[in-house]
Amino acid sequence: MILYSPHYVILLKVQSVVKCVVDAGVYTCARCGSHGFENDACCDGGVLVDMSSLHSLSVRKSTKIVQFESGYTHGQLYYMLSKGSKLVVPGGTESYVGTAGLFLGCGRGLLTSLYGLACDSVRAVEYVDEKGELRNASSEENKDMYWLAKEGGGAFPGIVTSFTVQAYNEPDEVVVTSCRWSGKEGKEFEVIDAWSRVQSKFTKRRRKMFSHVKITAEHTELAVYCFGCHGEEMEFYEKETRELMMHVEPMWKREGHLNGTKCSETRQSWVNFHRSSVLVRNEGMTAMVRDTVKVHSTYTGAVVLDTWELDDSETRKMIHWLKQAEDVLHSNRLSHITFFLYPLGGEAVQSVAPDATAFPWRSSKSVLHYKLLWKPKNDEKEELMKSMNDVLQGLLDKFQSARTFYNYLGKHVEGERERVEWYRGHFGNNLERVQRVREQNDPTGVFGIPSRLPPRLTKNRT
Ligand SMILES: Cc1cc2nc3c(=O)[nH]c(=O)nc-3n(C[C@H](O)[C@H](O)[C@H](O)COP(=O)(O)OP(=O)(O)OC[C@H]3O[C@@H](n4cnc5c(N)ncnc54)[C@H](O)[C@@H]3O)c2cc1C
Repeated sequence: MILYSPHYVILLKVQSVVKCVVDAGVYTCARCGSHGFENDACCDGGVLVDMSSLHSLSVRKSTKIVQFESGYTHGQLYYMLSKGSKLVVPGGTESYVGTAGLFLGCGRGLLTSLYGLACDSVRAVEYVDEKGELRNASSEENKDMYWLAKEGGGAFPGIVTSFTVQAYNEPDEVVVTSCRWSGKEGKEFEVIDAWSRVQSKFTKRRRKMFSHVKITAEHTELAVYCFGCHGEEMEFYEKETRELMMHVEPMWKREGHLNGTKCSETRQSWVNFHRSSVLVRNEGMTAMVRDTVKVHSTYTGAVVLDTWELDDSETRKMIHWLKQAEDVLHSNRLSHITFFLYPLGGEAVQSVAPDATAFPWRSSKSVLHYKLLWKPKNDEKEELMKSMNDVLQGLLDKFQSARTFYNYLGKHVEGERERVEWYRGHFGNNLERVQRVREQNDPTGVFGIPSRLPPRLTKNRT
């Protein structure tokens, strides 16, 4: 076992804070990467515990089991695991998102088709409970808490101080082939259609692939990734990527410009791939990097769908709406609205039973996700973005079989969080167990802002 910089003093402080909070009769929330979509960790009226300086990490090389404290962003953790042991955990796409928030919300990312959701690799969590005691939860002890640490997100009734996670060999190379069409080309539906046709092949675990479609008013992008692919895997990747791109653009070539299209292929190491986002710039270890990139406000929404075939009328309505919104976007110099389509994770995600974690939508196939992004502290834009968000949420609601998961909470719509149906949309038939575990482990409501938690049977503290 290799041990880097233990922070037991900070742990004791977390325990003391919880004890004080209990004595004072207020509530508390933990914060890790500050990337909760609804500023989930803001803790209005309560005591915020910032975990971002908890950075111990231990690696058991023989089993590839890693234990990391809950202050890491993904970029920091990817960097440390790579540098020390050439290992990786299946975390998120963006380096600056917090590992604690993402893992607690089950988490999906580039490696989901290989290893399942981030929470599927969690073997144990250490947490401070509602009495301020340090506890462990795993398949052996505190089993309900272990279950809720997988998708409970901000509803987890405790402060997680560390995660024990199965890690895997780091991919030696990340290959990305991507093409971008200008919005004027009007290729959105062709791209969506082509992408949806290949997903049953691309999401097979052994293919080691990920792909997404990204649509803004200005561009449509189709990108296909392969992680540590060699031999037959690489041949498959190259052949299928070529066919996919040529389906949309018959004159496609791997590098260069073609009419409105720009295509490229990059090959880099896993860490360099993440380093290209600002986050791991400072050797991955500076928590303050988080603050330098937190320069946008967002509204977001997402649904997981039972299908890859997204050529139905609701997708069309959303894209048409985006196109129409283009004038508003430009005249207001808004940053942008982006739609993403990606696979939920294929057979790796489906191999886990719907009630084995709090995340029930294991048979879902794709994620449709939008983000509204603008510079903060601009009331006029805030107003406009809110109205755009209301339209988009309304459109998302119309999707058949649409469900979502904790990390993509969305719904900045007045009163939504008071509706049991809204939580049912996240937890499905697992909702009753979520409520029961919460009540048994935090009967007086020490953790989390009451208005942002699933409705309880017992009374919250005020
Ligand atoms: C730019 C961006 C990219 C994203 N990309 C992805 C992605 O690729 N995949 C994905 O699955 N999600 C993604 N998300 C969603 C993200 O995973 C969630 O918003 C997640 O909750 C953020 O975690 P955080 O630690 O950064 O945020 P925080 O706001 O610090 O925390 C989020 C929630 O977790 C709770 N929490 C944090 N730490 C602890 C702890 N130690 N103990 C108990 N509770 C805790 C907080 O109280 C809060 O409720 C993205 C979000 C953004 C903004």
